[in-house]
Amino acid sequence: MSGLIDQFGRTATDLRMSLIDKCNLRCRYCMPAEGLDWLKKDDMLAGHEIVRLADIAISHLGIEEIRFTGGEPLVRADLVDILDGIHTRHPQVDLSMTTNGINLERKIDDLVSAGLSRINVSLDTVCPETFAKITRRDRLTKVLSGLHSAKAAGLSPIKINAVLLRGINDHEATELLTWTLEHGYKLRFIEQMPLDADHNWTRANMVTAQEIRDQISQRYTLTPHEEPRGSAPAELFNVTEPSSGRLLGTVGIIASVTEPFCSECSRTRITADAKIRSCLFSHTETDLMDLLRDGSSDEAIADAWRQAMWHKPKAHGQTKTGLGMPGFVQPERTMSAIGG
Ligand code: SAM
Ligand code: SF4
Repeated sequence: MSGLIDQFGRTATDLRMSLIDKCNLRCRYCMPAEGLDWLKKDDMLAGHEIVRLADIAISHLGIEEIRFTGGEPLVRADLVDILDGIHTRHPQVDLSMTTNGINLERKIDDLVSAGLSRINVSLDTVCPETFAKITRRDRLTKVLSGLHSAKAAGLSPIKINAVLLRGINDHEATELLTWTLEHGYKLRFIEQMPLDADHNWTRANMVTAQEIRDQISQRYTLTPHEEPRGSAPAELFNVTEPSSGRLLGTVGIIASVTEPFCSECSRTRITADAKIRSCLFSHTETDLMDLLRDGSSDEAIADAWRQAMWHKPKAHGQTKTGLGMPGFVQPERTMSAIGG
């Protein structure tokens, strides 16, 4: 079996599977207010096709963990069956999900029974007004109850993903960290990337990792976490109380824009319409849908996947100078249509 190796010597062992492009929020950094032209049902991977692709990824391509994403994975009605189908065949493989947390409370017990082992919930603020401004929906309480239910169901660690937007929640980093430390969640800030539908992102206006560290350091002491980072996107810091030196927890910062980690990337992505993307910022995709539906063998599908990953760009797509720099062209798909 040969795995997903690229021409620069990286091996992808971490699969991000987008289950659906639809979502029940409209986060400004991801979706336009009016939503997008959603995929038609027939153009989307069916549940049994997702299970087959996961099986191929694990059995033929050396995938060690799978994270479900979207769009919003909880919107998918057959999510529990998909998890169950993969977990039953491959109980050793870690199955996790990134979700906005809405409706999590209702579904969490079934998801955990079906094999969900870890969860990341996206939450950019604990202020209801700011939440409504960012997501264009007044649903903070649903997300908080979702988080609470994930904790009650025994999932651990529960990670929180937060994006800071200039002039909206950029002053709330410390408040959010304090809240997550108090509740036992592990917060990770993600630098905003140019994957919004409105093309409003500019490098000059985004909130940088350095700014986030500076803001938090006014209240807490941050020191590099002792564990080696490996291919993890987040740089981890210990958070201690300055007066007592007591360790309160950790915080992660994913500096995809200002401190990219492409040389360590171990990810491969598949969209809800069965396109392999070797990088978030790719302008090319490899379609697996035809192969899935024309009777091709698992080995033929695995080969197409290997080919796609062999051509993974060295760094963020198409420019040597970085995201938003001269020569950078934003991919056509938004984050919601790729699967973050
Ligand atoms: N709907 C789910 C959620 O929000 O968690 C899963 C899909 S969402 C696209 C996955 C992650 O991508 C979320 O944590 C979200 O904050 C992040 N994200 C979306 N657009 C982004 C952008 N332009 N820059 C950085 N992160 C982004
Ligand atoms: Fe939906 Fe997640 Fe995008 Fe927000 S970030 S609009 S919750 S897909």
